[in-house]
Amino acid sequence: MECSICAVPLFILRNPILGYKICEACYCGAKNLITLVDKYNANHLDHKSIDKNGGENAVVCPPPNSSSMGFSNVIRWMKKTKEKEEELNEKVVFLGRLENAFKDQIHTDILVKPGTGGPPIPAHRALLNMLDSDGCKLAPREAITIPELNYKQLEALLEFLYSGTLAQTKLEKHCCALLKAADTYEIPYLQKFCERQMLASLNSSNALEILHISDTCSNLSLSLKDTALNFIVKNMEQIAFSPSFEDFALKNPHLSVQIIRASLTDIKNKRLNSS
Ligand SMILES: [Zn+2]
Repeated sequence: MECSICAVPLFILRNPILGYKICEACYCGAKNLITLVDKYNANHLDHKSIDKNGGENAVVCPPPNSSSMGFSNVIRWMKKTKEKEEELNEKVVFLGRLENAFKDQIHTDILVKPGTGGPPIPAHRALLNMLDSDGCKLAPREAITIPELNYKQLEALLEFLYSGTLAQTKLEKHCCALLKAADTYEIPYLQKFCERQMLASLNSSNALEILHISDTCSNLSLSLKDTALNFIVKNMEQIAFSPSFEDFALKNPHLSVQIIRASLTDIKNKRLNSS
């Protein structure tokens, strides 16, 4: 006897209905998939997204107060998601022309100078207006300077602004500088991009630096700083005796106080839990 859906031999039979026999994996997979789509749709309802005209862009949602519509809803959701993916791919190809114009220096109309270490980079005014809190200020100028960044960091920033992404090696190398730039020039997408990289690469050798950077950014969510602080507390023995801690403590006395307090709270909680 085998599963009516995936055809694996059946060891555990799930409620045979109308002669269909379903294996445990298909049963759980179907349930999880339906739950996931229902949850997604419920979130979308919460975040407003229903097209009131019921047009082509309408989000597939279960009727208000209804329970799950099962697989019929999942299939409709998948079709809509596929259409959205194709639309996004077309947008990416369209925006790729702008990236090519930057790489080939076509119709560039402004020079962007790094703070240190290299020549100015030709770019397009229209895109760079997002780096200027007052776009009108940028218009009459032939060049602007991004004083916080060196040449390589500026090159990485521009590459991200034109393409919306960055090669992993460049991201790893310039992540801190880019996060700071994202904070200074209020570029939330770049900020999230860098935050994700920092969270993924958090380890004993970079945790202090990540804590320091996250503390200096005014527009960051608290999660990066909290995560870095918790990581340091959990690995206190290793980090406190590292050569970089001494230098960090001298430069960041207020953060050192926060680390010590968080460590003592952690020790106290552990004692309470074990008693
Ligand atoms: Zn199956």
